Amino acid sequence: MSTTYQLLDGKACSKAVLERIAKGAMEVKKKRGRPPHLAAVLVGDDPASQTYVASKVKACEGVGFQSTLLRRPADVTEGDLLELVASLNADASLDGFIVQLPLPKQIDEERVTLAIAPGKDVDGFHPQNLGRMMLGLPGYLPATPSGILELLKHHEVPTEGKHCVVVGRSNIVGTPMAVLMSRNANPGNCTVTVAHSRTRDLRAITRQADILIVAIGKANFIGEDMVKDEAVVVDVGIHRLEDPTRKNGFRLCGDVDFDRVAPKCSWITPVPGGVGPMTVTSLLLNTLKAAGG
Ligand code: NDP
Repeated sequence: MSTTYQLLDGKACSKAVLERIAKGAMEVKKKRGRPPHLAAVLVGDDPASQTYVASKVKACEGVGFQSTLLRRPADVTEGDLLELVASLNADASLDGFIVQLPLPKQIDEERVTLAIAPGKDVDGFHPQNLGRMMLGLPGYLPATPSGILELLKHHEVPTEGKHCVVVGRSNIVGTPMAVLMSRNANPGNCTVTVAHSRTRDLRAITRQADILIVAIGKANFIGEDMVKDEAVVVDVGIHRLEDPTRKNGFRLCGDVDFDRVAPKCSWITPVPGGVGPMTVTSLLLNTLKAAGG
């Protein structure tokens, strides 16, 4: 068993990428007379969504982007939201925008995602962008999986020929992640297995993983018995657990039980400070691209 694991450090990696983005933003400003501009639509007052959107707006400021936050009440109608999306699609002063998910029950998320112009879909959720990703064509990659690729590249983690197990098959994380890890690219060229809630004997499968990427949304679910020695483990999950010993009353953890699993790994992401910062960074990279940078 390895006890000297290394951290896949999302903070350090995102700092390096953000410096590149800030330079790109200055070039866009020189060329076009204005910096890249991202808008974020926030519906309702879900605390987690507010935190995510605030961190995206703050990140824009840090790299010299313009950002606009558009808030709508939780009882906004689908029609009003679709009208807003149409107006953002038509707004030439904006390079890209996101509609923060999840949306309230009265709104069909799929309809909203489909309404976003693919050229402004910097979250990379539109079927056209996902289809282009499948075919290896240029487009906007979904932020979390593309941030994970950047993280693996930054730390020069070898992926070619490895068995990558992705646990979770959501449209925004697990499924695109599996596609990207199997592409003929670096990072990529893995043999990929996708596991989900109907997978039989999950432990037997995760134990085969040279690279284990977990996006299931269950706190501390992956224990050390589910991971093989020297594995690379990427933990996408993020959860708040009550912790009265902390000043703020909570601590963050992932889908992987870090303390138990880390000693077995060659590389592992911390939570927080692993995948999270990379997701925001990828969104800014997509926005820079949308602005022609
Ligand atoms: P979803 O809830 O959309 O998908 C969860 C997936 O996990 C599903 O495919 C589900 O299977 C699978 N799953 C659930 N339980 C099990 C189980 N017991 N065994 C195996 N598979 C299981 O989640 P997301 O992909 O959107 O997000 C996953 C986690 O990542 C969440 O904690 C979320 O907060 C976090 N996240 C973090 C981001 C970041 O930047 N750090 C960005 C995005 C998400 P099935 O399809 O069969 O239901």
